[in-house]
Amino acid sequence: MKEIYCKGCGALIQTEDKTLPGYVSESMKASFKPSNMICQRCYRIKHYNEVYPYAVSNTDFLQVIDKIKEEDALIIKIVDIFDFSGSFIPAIKTLTGNEDVILVGNKMDLLPKNVKEKKILNWLKIMLAQQGFTVLASILVSAKYGHNFDQLMDLIYKYKGNRNVYIVGCSNVGKSKIVNQILKRYLGEPGDILTVSTSPMTTIGLIGFPLIDGSVIYDTPGVINKHQYVHYLTRPSYKLTVPKKEIKPLVFQLYEGQTLFFGGLGRLDIISGETGDKISLITYFANTLNIHRTKTSNADELYDKKLYSLLSPPFNESEALPKWVYHEFRIRDNQKYDIVFCGLGFVTLRAPFHIRAYAPFVVGVYTRLAIIW
Ligand code: GDP
Repeated sequence: MKEIYCKGCGALIQTEDKTLPGYVSESMKASFKPSNMICQRCYRIKHYNEVYPYAVSNTDFLQVIDKIKEEDALIIKIVDIFDFSGSFIPAIKTLTGNEDVILVGNKMDLLPKNVKEKKILNWLKIMLAQQGFTVLASILVSAKYGHNFDQLMDLIYKYKGNRNVYIVGCSNVGKSKIVNQILKRYLGEPGDILTVSTSPMTTIGLIGFPLIDGSVIYDTPGVINKHQYVHYLTRPSYKLTVPKKEIKPLVFQLYEGQTLFFGGLGRLDIISGETGDKISLITYFANTLNIHRTKTSNADELYDKKLYSLLSPPFNESEALPKWVYHEFRIRDNQKYDIVFCGLGFVTLRAPFHIRAYAPFVVGVYTRLAIIW
C-alpha cells in the first residue's frame, strides 16, 4: 500500500500504536483523503489545543534532541519526583548542547500534604549535587492540579531572553500534562503569551508553540523509560499500581527475617537491622496496592501459591512480568534512605540496615537519601 504522511507533522501514518508518531484510528483514516491526512496528535493540537503523550525509542529521541544543538536554548527538564533517578537524564546538557536548564519536579500532589515544599526542594538540590548537575532554578509542580504554573512561567520568562525553550523528559513524567497546563493557561485570551491556536509548528519530533515575543516553546517526545513497571502491565493492573491521589504512607515495624510484598510486583526482605532491633519502615505506594507481610522463610512458597490472588496485581499469566532478581542494600551510617521501585513507589527506612529488594529484572530498584524525613 502507498505510504501516507501526516500533513501536519510529516510522520508516516500508521494505525497500530497510539503512542508512536503518525497514529490515526482506522475510522479516522477512512474519513480523510490521503492528501489531507493528519495524525491524531496533530488533529488534537489543531482542534483542542491539547497535546497527548508521545514517546519514542532512544535512537529517535537522540535524533530529535540533537537538533537542539544547533541553537542557544533554554531547557526545561521534567522529572518525576517519585522516580528521580529513573526519570533524570544526566546527559541532557551534552545531548542538547545547552547548559541552561530549569528543573521541574512533577507530581508533588502525590506527596503527603504535610510535607513542606521547601524540604523537597532541598532534597532536589542534594540529588542534583550528587550528579554534579547545576541548574538555573528548580521548581516543584503538580501538572494534575496546575500547582505552581504561574511561578514556572515566571522562571521561563526570567531566563529565556530571546531564546527558544525546549521541554524535555522521559515518558510518564507528566510532560504532556505540563504542556497542556501551559497551553490551557496562556492561550487564547487577550494578553496571553502563547499564540498557539493559530499555528502550532509541528514536525515529527517537535511541536512548537510560538510566544508573542517571538520565541517558541517546543514539546519534545519523551524517551521511553524501560525500567518502569508500566510497560509490563495491563490497564487494570496499571490503574491499581500507579498512584493517582495523595499517598497515605503506611508504617510497619519489621524484624529480621520478615518480608513485605507489594502486590505481586515487588518484595523487600529484612536480612538484618544491624543492631538486631526491629526496623521502622514507611511505605509510599498507591493506596490501592495491597501490601502483605510474611516471614521470609515462607515468602517463596507464598509467592508460588498466591501470585495473582493475594499477591496481585498482576492478575494472571498474560501479564508475564520478567523473572525477579534481587538487589541487596547494606548501609551502615544512620541516615534515612528510600528504596525505590521505579514507577511503583518507595520504602523509607533508617540505616544501618541490610535488606534485599526483589523486582522483575527489567525494573529499576535503587536507593537514595530519603525524600521525606
Ligand atoms: P508523559 O509521558 O511525560 O507525557 O506523561 P503524561 O502527561 O502522559 O503523564 C503520565 C502519567 O502521569 C499519567 O497517568 C498522568 O495522569 C500522570 N500524571 C502526570 N502529571 C501528574 C501530576 O502532576 N500528578 C499526578 N498525580 N499524576 C500525574
